Amino acid sequence: MNIHATVAGTLDKASPKVRDWLAQPRPMLIDGQWVAAKSGKTFAVIDPATEGKLAEVAEGDKADIDAAVAAARRAFDSGPWRKMTPSERGRVLHKIGDLIYENIDELAELDSLDNGKPKAVAKAADVTLSADMFHYMSGWPTKIHGKTIPISNLAAPGEYFSFTRPEPVGVVGQIIPWNFPLLMCAWKLGPALATGCTVVLKVAEETPLSALRLGELLLEAGLPDGVVNIVTGFGETAGAALAAHPNVNKVAFTGSTEVGKLIVQAASHDLKRVSLELGGKSPNIVLADADVEATVAGAAAGIFFNHGQCCNAGSRLFVHDKIFDKVVDGVSAAAEKIKLGFGLDEDTEMGPLVSEVQYGRVTGYLDSGKADGAKAVTGGDGVDGPGYFVKPTVLVDTTPDMKVVKEEIFGPVLVAMPFKDVDDDLIRDANNSLYGLAAGVWTSDIQKAHQIANRLESGTVWVNCYHVFDAALPFGGYKQSGWGREMGEQVLNNYLETKAITTKIG
Ligand code: ADP
Repeated sequence: MNIHATVAGTLDKASPKVRDWLAQPRPMLIDGQWVAAKSGKTFAVIDPATEGKLAEVAEGDKADIDAAVAAARRAFDSGPWRKMTPSERGRVLHKIGDLIYENIDELAELDSLDNGKPKAVAKAADVTLSADMFHYMSGWPTKIHGKTIPISNLAAPGEYFSFTRPEPVGVVGQIIPWNFPLLMCAWKLGPALATGCTVVLKVAEETPLSALRLGELLLEAGLPDGVVNIVTGFGETAGAALAAHPNVNKVAFTGSTEVGKLIVQAASHDLKRVSLELGGKSPNIVLADADVEATVAGAAAGIFFNHGQCCNAGSRLFVHDKIFDKVVDGVSAAAEKIKLGFGLDEDTEMGPLVSEVQYGRVTGYLDSGKADGAKAVTGGDGVDGPGYFVKPTVLVDTTPDMKVVKEEIFGPVLVAMPFKDVDDDLIRDANNSLYGLAAGVWTSDIQKAHQIANRLESGTVWVNCYHVFDAALPFGGYKQSGWGREMGEQVLNNYLETKAITTKIG
């Protein structure tokens, strides 16, 4: 596996348009203007495949968050956004989706360069799902409405007319991670805009590029000034200032459970609304009657898609002992076939991890697994640099107390464990996690599949498939995987307050 021999740098492979765009220091979007950080500071965006510099972006901090929140507040209280009809808001959202499709290659290239993922994956998954999210959300503004409710209040006899009125929660602070840079923008901005909120979006310091290009498309689509403000900067400075800001009504966060808890603390001072989409350690359960070929492909994709950098990665594989060896050998063979390389090379199937920190974290877990007695059937370590490449790994001979079994690794590392019977022990082991984001079940017995699905403590269960996402399907977690749901009709609740209005009419 010699990744580095043939390529001088990934930027050489980028289109001239993207290269030119990256050659300028990229400012932030505040109040419809492209501005430098008030401090004048910038920081380098690192190419995870070469460890070279891809671009320079503004380093926003508290002062810039203050300006962005003030702009979002003005846009919410007195700007044209609030006065637009639902149908007009829907049209702007639809236009954003159209513009994303029109710029699909450029956006996929930016996410590939910035995050390391293959461009083909960015195009088929990240960018396509982002456009879908805006298109799906564009239908909602005209369908968000309250109810008339009959009341029975004997203490205040009379005739009353009561109805509910859903209202936007106000100025929303959104903080997103680096694993799906553009898609996380879409998941957050789509519903916030559909409900009529205004936004300050703090993107991940590792991957700010596609969000800034999206900012240009938002303006092109006719989004009024200040409705979406995009701040680039670090979590401890810009992110923390946003989560604690007194003029922000709600914080929506996607990222680690650890930082999610800090967000809750920061938002607790004035009891801001909070929604969280956090970590996972998802069980993928294979029954003895599963179609082995389909299961192997699904289990491999479940863990290796996006280099395992998915909160819903199927990272704990439970396989019936009758077919354990077959499935583990199959997934290991699939792992060995994965072609590591630069995201912009057409034959690349897996790129580097996103950052040096992430590389250190994942290889640290691999070392700890081996030290604890787990055996790597394939992979088991990183690839010598430059670049943050890690070999797709399958670990066996684990015990439930090992860190690699309990903790979220957020890398291409699968732990595979055999079970004997489909019984309470299996369900208990599958649910034995502080997380509860997703799960998979593989079987040809649909009754059993649903019995198991009903007992799993997780926000999503996939049967005979994995990683099936749709803008219309709610996604989110039980337990420490989060609060609230992303996508679908349900995400609208994250951004709405309900007002009950009662009038005495007789
Ligand atoms: P990961 O561990 O996957 O990098 P994090 O949870 O650290 O994910 O980061 C997700 C997002 O949270 C990023 O935009 C990051 O800048 C931001 N962030 C990190 N620390 C804080 C913090 N203390 N307050 C607010 N945001 C933060």
